[in-house]
Amino acid sequence: MHDKAKSQTYANVDAAEIEKFNAMASRWWDPEGDFRPLHQINPLRVQFIDQHGQGFAGRKILDVGCGGGILTEAMAKAGAEVTGIDMSPDALNVARLHALESGLTIDYQQITAEAFAAENPEQYDIVTCLEMLEHVPDPAAVIAACAQLVKPGGRVVFATLNRTLKAKLLGVFVAEYVLRWVPQGTHDADKFIRPSELIGMAEQSGLIPLAATGIHFNPLLNQFYISDRNLDVNYLVACEKPVCP
Ligand code: SAH
Repeated sequence: MHDKAKSQTYANVDAAEIEKFNAMASRWWDPEGDFRPLHQINPLRVQFIDQHGQGFAGRKILDVGCGGGILTEAMAKAGAEVTGIDMSPDALNVARLHALESGLTIDYQQITAEAFAAENPEQYDIVTCLEMLEHVPDPAAVIAACAQLVKPGGRVVFATLNRTLKAKLLGVFVAEYVLRWVPQGTHDADKFIRPSELIGMAEQSGLIPLAATGIHFNPLLNQFYISDRNLDVNYLVACEKPVCP
């Protein structure tokens, strides 16, 4: 194996994925642009994190795979002290500039979850890792790092796409090819994660799952909504790190 590839595999970063997000970075805050679905679902996920993370005000939060900061900023606006980490330098530049524009103080750093966890174990009330696990070679290692980063009694919230035919149809075919919400090649459906797999990895890392819910799209109303009726496409999972494992 080529040396560079070896070190990237070791760091659990897929260089092609990071390149993709670098290339899209300038469009991050365009509500009608490449990240339109993230803008649209953001209030729903903020509500879920608020509910299962026990509020934002004064909480110390780490946002893993924060990208341009759509979620990160919303949590800072709600009164949390937020750090965002990502491996896309261009997304982080956009995030830093946008936080300045928004008048928010957010600590953005280019580092992997695993490396950050080694330096900051049990430092965060809440760790969020949304729409990122399906872009890394070894999601279990990221989940383990999130579990290491959160304080005992704290909460970790994950979101990803389910590995179902429905998610492949809606999340890839419709979103990328029919409605063209996001660029073609944004998602590889083979890297989607089933809820049972995500929960299994969380439990392996010592986390206890508390709640899971699906994010759904209503084409008639042209809007997303949250419902735990099914987790077939995009879903959120909240976990707790027990005080005594
Ligand atoms: N969590 C944000 C952005 C999701 S897009 C949100 O939901 O609004 C996925 C992000 O994961 C991109 O910014 C990409 O650069 C980042 N990412 C991909 N692999 C990563 C890795 N190994 N370490 C850290 N960030 C990574």
